[in-house]
Amino acid sequence: MYASRRRDQSSSARAEARRITALEDLLLAWYEREGRDLPWRRTRDPYAILVSEVMLQQTQVERVVPRYERWLARWPTAAALAEARAAEVIVEWQGLGYNRRALALHRAARHVAERGWPDDLSGLPGVGPYTAAALRCFAFGEDVLPRDVNVQRVERRTRHDFTSHAGQALMDLGATVCLARVPRCGSCPLATACPSRGTRDEPRRKQTPFHGSFRQRRAELLRLVASRPQPVETLEASVVEALGRDGLVVVADGKVRLPGHDE
Ligand code: SF4
Repeated sequence: MYASRRRDQSSSARAEARRITALEDLLLAWYEREGRDLPWRRTRDPYAILVSEVMLQQTQVERVVPRYERWLARWPTAAALAEARAAEVIVEWQGLGYNRRALALHRAARHVAERGWPDDLSGLPGVGPYTAAALRCFAFGEDVLPRDVNVQRVERRTRHDFTSHAGQALMDLGATVCLARVPRCGSCPLATACPSRGTRDEPRRKQTPFHGSFRQRRAELLRLVASRPQPVETLEASVVEALGRDGLVVVADGKVRLPGHDE
């Protein structure tokens, strides 16, 4: 009885291993055919990958691609970015949103230019656990799977832990097929083995609208100041204060300007 149960268990473990291998194989074969050709996937340069990851943190892929290419054409290395003035970096970032990321990337480049890449990548400004894992996997070739929300969703729905080889494929599947609200199970390469096939997640709370928000007023004020320094009394004080706290503007001689911006 015990022996037969053990036999059953080991054959079900073998079946599970086959399912697991088959699942990742299906995903990788799909990625081979359907994977998006993105410029940061053609390099292992950690600086270029850091730029892409920081841009992608809160901005959509389609908007990031041309900005990433322009950024690397202007500052192709961490040393080149380290030499730029903060004001130039903020102006170049305009339109990508969440401008603090630009300053963090600038500080990270200065750190790398002066001291090289640290062992603990999450010690770099603007680099959290996910971005550190992405750098370790895509730039340094370590066996670490970076789990962004897309990857987490696919793993949760398939109830499967993928390996680091599947990182880019999982991101594409989560972004184009296994969507958060309505997954496209009908065109999913994992549909035959996915226990969540045909189900939907509960709708999440709606994001607060950008229009009219404090975030929008911050973005507009920064855009205005980036075009030229502005008299402080003409601007909304709480917005100036918030941008000043983040190091995105400075107030001097009654004017609000970008840091290091000379007039
Ligand atoms: S079958 Fe549906 S739920 Fe499962 S991974 Fe594919 S798209 Fe997601």
